[in-house]
Parts: sequence; structure tokens; C-alpha cells
Amino acid sequence: MTHRERLRQQLLQLDDRGYKAYKDIQGTYDFGEFTLIIDYVQGDPFASPSQLRVRVPQSVAGFPAELYRSRSRSIALRDYLTRQFAAACREVSHKRGTGKSGAMGVCSMGQEVLERSSALVSDAEIEVRFVVGLPAQGRRILGRQAAQMLCEDVPQIVDRALKFDRLDGAEIARHVETVEDADWLRDRLEVLGLVAFVADGSILPRRSSVDDRPLSADAVPFESPPSLRVEFDCPNRGKISGMGIPAGITLIVGGGYHGKSTLLRAIELGVYNRIPGDGQEFVVAHPAAVKIRAEDGRHVAGVDISPFINNLPQGRSTTAFSTENASGSTSQAASIMEALEVGAQVLLVDEDTSATNFMIRDRRMQQLIAKDKEPITPFIDRVGQLFAEFGISTILVMGGSGDYFDVADTVIGMDEFRPRDLTEKAKAIAREYATGRTPEGSETFGKLPQRIPLPDSIDPSRGNRAVKWKARDVDEIAFGTAEIDLSAVEQLVDVAQLRAIAEAMVYAKHKYADGRRSLGEILDAVMADLENRGLDAIAPFPQGNLAMFRRFELAAALDRLRTLQVIT
Ligand code: ADP
Ligand code: MG
Repeated sequence: MTHRERLRQQLLQLDDRGYKAYKDIQGTYDFGEFTLIIDYVQGDPFASPSQLRVRVPQSVAGFPAELYRSRSRSIALRDYLTRQFAAACREVSHKRGTGKSGAMGVCSMGQEVLERSSALVSDAEIEVRFVVGLPAQGRRILGRQAAQMLCEDVPQIVDRALKFDRLDGAEIARHVETVEDADWLRDRLEVLGLVAFVADGSILPRRSSVDDRPLSADAVPFESPPSLRVEFDCPNRGKISGMGIPAGITLIVGGGYHGKSTLLRAIELGVYNRIPGDGQEFVVAHPAAVKIRAEDGRHVAGVDISPFINNLPQGRSTTAFSTENASGSTSQAASIMEALEVGAQVLLVDEDTSATNFMIRDRRMQQLIAKDKEPITPFIDRVGQLFAEFGISTILVMGGSGDYFDVADTVIGMDEFRPRDLTEKAKAIAREYATGRTPEGSETFGKLPQRIPLPDSIDPSRGNRAVKWKARDVDEIAFGTAEIDLSAVEQLVDVAQLRAIAEAMVYAKHKYADGRRSLGEILDAVMADLENRGLDAIAPFPQGNLAMFRRFELAAALDRLRTLQVIT
């Protein structure tokens, strides 16, 4: 009897038994063309679904090595296969039984192409990890339906999604070539002295704040101003032109509703690659570009915010500032210092989500409220020092204050969704109308902070259960008994990233946080393990629902863990 037949018989015999009896099917089955591995069987129809894998040898799958020979291509092909597998699950499987039972799927996918643990590709084989809600009626096993799902549907899905001959070769090529070109463009930025590139013809507006697909009708395609235009010769697509944003301090100005924030948002997401047809697949940003915003109410643990904030009422320290409930300005200062601590090279700031008193303090206010009564040194007095002393660039949306003309290197004006180079004009205005401001703050920015996290303060346990965490959409991780609010961490795009971050926090605590290593050193070590061994490095067992994140977002989650304690 073949393994497939044996599994079928076993499932038929389980019919109508109590749900726990499903545990017997855990194991590895040779289905001939591929191997089915049942790694984990859920204990209950309402619990998180069972985790399975298929392994298809390349002799059957037949993907040319060309499609995965570089890191970029391999990540893109894995993304493509995950999407195909998900689509085939939707077509082939349908709901059977109670609750979530009878459902089959992979992770949900947005517009980004992220490295994921859902699919792996090698010269030997393709592996895809997926979940199945083993079917039940109440708490009784539906054995016939389970046999149908695992022994009929799964082979059919493999057939549709994981065999090169059955797929659209041109579409796959476009997928891997697009991602490879975007990575190539991002790699070029630094040597050309750029921090971002927005290709001509890009579609920046999205359908809505909850629908990240491109706005289709009425979207004005991006068209670079000639003076900021750069041209590249990409490996696959050939010539491409667009706007290069130089290192330094860049202002995005313009009237309300003229597309300033939309441009910045595209740049924020330019740290990721996007699928072909997205409209932003050739908008790329420096990989260490970090969005900064005000986030009142957040937790802050021992951050040196003194470059921005000093002499708080009641003599509170700002060299190791801790609070359970930051204000707009202190939260924004803390987020900047935390980003710098872990290696941010470009800060992205939008006036819409900034604290006004953190951004500007004009001449009249300087006259009314003397410096010794104002703890804040506004960003305008530090932004130039950050570039001069550390080479850290800033892209800032600022429609409300011309004071920044003095410190800007480049001024881009958005006019009915079309960018103009207003640098010369803004500089002339700055010469003609002096702000009369007195520069505030010290001569230099000072040094960047380094904190040492205490491992005991990172505790994922909950009562007597060893490790317990859960990602809730892209906004929150429940970590042990704490809730980590990530709704203001705007460069997180996928719930699978939050799951991976939670795993990485536990991994970092056990493996590297020892009360001596700094946060930066811990992140270096964790990210190096991920680079070398992939997402499986941080997961206790093979699971398909993790996606890659950056060190900045891992740091952001740790920084927002309310129990976190540090040595400074
Ligand atoms: P601002 O920050 O300048 O006030 P936004 O970037 O918020 O403006 O854009 C205002 C509106 O215009 C948004 O609804 C956005 O989706 C839309 N929009 C932005 N860019 C474009 C474009 N290129 N074509 C069409 N609509 C756009
Ligand atoms: Mg705006």
C-alpha cells in the first residue's frame, strides 16, 4: 500500500472519533511525486490550525536555476510560489465542517515581496509550508473530508502551484526580474550620494489607508523634475529614469492635498520590494531609512533625549529618560534617539504626525518664552548637525514653516501631485526674509546613545506557561502579559513580520541578551543569524508564517515593551 493510500485509510478509520485522535497522523508521507509532512496537529478544531509541509523534488517541480540563482531572485521566486500556492488553496479547497475546520491556506500576502518562511527553493527541491484546519463536526473527526483534503486536494494544489510547466513562465520571469532590479537600484543609491529614488511613471497614491493596492483611475503618474532626474541601466529592465533624492536635508513642501505625504509614504515603503504592477516597484529608499513620528502615551526606557530635551520641570533626567507615558515631543525625541542608536541613516518625518513644538520654535516664541523655560531644542537646530557629524540625512514633509529653508539642501515642491525643484527659489527667499531666529542647543549634537537591555525584563511567559505571544494584525504583539503597541511603527507591513519579531525577541533574550551586550550588539548578532540561516534560525520548529523584518522594527518592538529595563 502506498503512503498516500495508508493515510487515506487511517483518516477514514478516524471518522467520528474524538478530535484528539487526529494526533496519530503526525509524520512523513511519501506521495510519489512529493513528500507530505504533517509537523503539528492541532488539539482542537478551534485552536490554531495544523502545520504541514510539502516537498517537491526539482525532478518533478522543474524550476530552472536561472529563476533563483541570486538572493533577490530566490526571495522573489519563493514569494511567487507562496502566492500561487495560496491561490490554488482558495480554488481547490472549500470550507468543510465547523469553525475554521476544513480551511487550507498559506499566509496572507500584500503588495510587498518579503523574505518569508512559507516557501524554500533549492537545486534539490521546493518546500512549501501551509496550514490546514483538520475538519470536524463539533469535536468529532470528519475522516472522509480529511482524506479528501490531504489525499486529493493537496496533490491537486501541488500540481497547480509548484510545477514550472503548469505556470506562466513569462510572469515568473517578470516577478524575479522586477525584484532583482529593485534591489539593484537600492544598492546603487549610496555610491551615487542618494537616499531615495522614485521612478518616472510610478503610481504613488493607494486606494485607501486599508487597501494598499494602487489607485487606478485618476492617479497622476510620477514625473521627475529635470534638475533632480537620474538615470539607471538596470540589469533586466534596462534604462529607467526618475527623481533621485540626494543625501542631506530634503524638504517636501507644497499646498495641502498636493501629494506630500503620499510621496513620503512611498519612500518609507521603498525599503521593501513590491510585486510587478504595484506602481511602486521602482521606488526605492536607503535600507536604513526610518520613519519617525510623535507617539504620545508610549513607553520609553532609559533613552538619552538630551540633544532635544533638557531641564524638564521637577529636575527629571533626560540623559536616561524613562516614562510610562511620553508626550508628543518627548516621544518623538526618544524615537529619533532609538533609531540612531541602532544605525538609522535616514530619518523620514511628516509634519502631519509630528509634534509642532518639537519641529519649530520661531522668533516670536523665542521672545515670549525664554530658552531657560523651554526644555525643547527643536529639530530644526539639530537636523544639520546630524548630517554634518554623522552623515544622517533627513527627508521632511513641511508645508507649514519656511524656517526650514535655512537648513535645507534640497526643496521639492509638490504641485498638483507633480514634483518641482524649488531649492533655488527657497534659498533666495531665505536670503531675502531672514527668520530672525536665534539658533538653540549646543555646538555639537553629542554622542549617540547605547543602552544595555536586561534579559529578565524581556519576559514572554504568562503565568505558568513558558512562552506565550501572539501577533494581532500589524498593530500589536501580545508578549507574555504585556501588550506591545506597534500601531505607530509605520514601516511594519505584514502580520508575519510581527510574528517573526516576537520570535526574535525570545531568541535574542535567550541567546544574546546577557546584561553586558548593548542593544546594537544584540541586533547585530540576531540579524547575522537571520542572514546566514534564514527565518528558521529564530523559530523553534519549521513554520510558514514568518516574514523578514529590519533591525529597526525589532528594536522598535523591544523599545515599546513596557517591562523593558536597561543599563545606560
Ligand atoms: P498632502 O500631504 O500634500 O496634504 P496627500 O499626500 O495626503 O497630500 O494627498 C492628498 C490626496 O491626494 C490623497 O487622497 C492621495 O491619495 C491623493 N493623491 C496623492 N498623490 C496623487 C497622485 N499622484 N494622483 C492622484 N491622487 C493623488
Ligand atoms: Mg500631508
